[in-house]
Amino acid sequence: MTTPVIELRAVSRRYDDGPPALHEATLTVRTGEAVAILGPSGSGKSTLLNLIAGLDRPNGGTVTVDGVRVDGLGEAASARYRRTRIGLVFQFFNLLDDLTVADNVALPAQLAGTARGPARRRAAELLAALGIDRHADAYPGKLSGGERQCVAVARALVNRPALLLADEPTGALDTASGEDVGKLLAGLNGEGQTIVIVTHDLALARSCTNRTIRIVDGRVSEEDAVVDGRVSEDDA
Ligand code: ADP
Repeated sequence: MTTPVIELRAVSRRYDDGPPALHEATLTVRTGEAVAILGPSGSGKSTLLNLIAGLDRPNGGTVTVDGVRVDGLGEAASARYRRTRIGLVFQFFNLLDDLTVADNVALPAQLAGTARGPARRRAAELLAALGIDRHADAYPGKLSGGERQCVAVARALVNRPALLLADEPTGALDTASGEDVGKLLAGLNGEGQTIVIVTHDLALARSCTNRTIRIVDGRVSEEDAVVDGRVSEDDA
């Protein structure tokens, strides 16, 4: 068995007096896995993702990522954790429009203390590896949605995170671009990158993950190992 990258133990999150958004969730994601988190709207997916990313605190339980107890971090340590240990990819890319593609990718490395030169070299290397180096000097506004999401993936990888965490990465893309992003993520996982994707996109889950976690009403109700690299039809 490989090392756990994510370990949640009996994690609960409750807002006000409502039912728990997450109820005693326990799960482990190991190095090299690609996991899809599936579940209907309102089931607790974003809550789970925010807890793993250290953007929110549980009311009970422990969240450990890459050896760090994320649930106990203060604000500064939590920001440092996000910069160095995880790479985040969002539905709407969240690129900075007044920076070039290369500068967008290099920025988190510079924020983590890497000098501009080495940060730019790392960005160039990643853009080449992901096949988008021809756009290095372009501004994000000139790129298609699919290309922008590839840049966002490059940016997420710049500090060599233990975990790539994506929230509906194909939610704003057409089918063909979504497939390209799926191939990109599958390729990264093939090289050993641990990936967790929250998604409604079953085609994406099929193309680039090898395990699904299903959440219903805040409960991790089922964890399926995927047979032959595919998830079953009723996991949507
Ligand atoms: P999903 O991402 O699966 O759509 P969420 O994690 O966003 O689900 O929400 C799970 C539950 O928690 C829902 O009932 C939602 O209304 C509630 N919830 C989420 N965020 C908040 C919040 N900031 N305040 C109050 N309730 C919230």
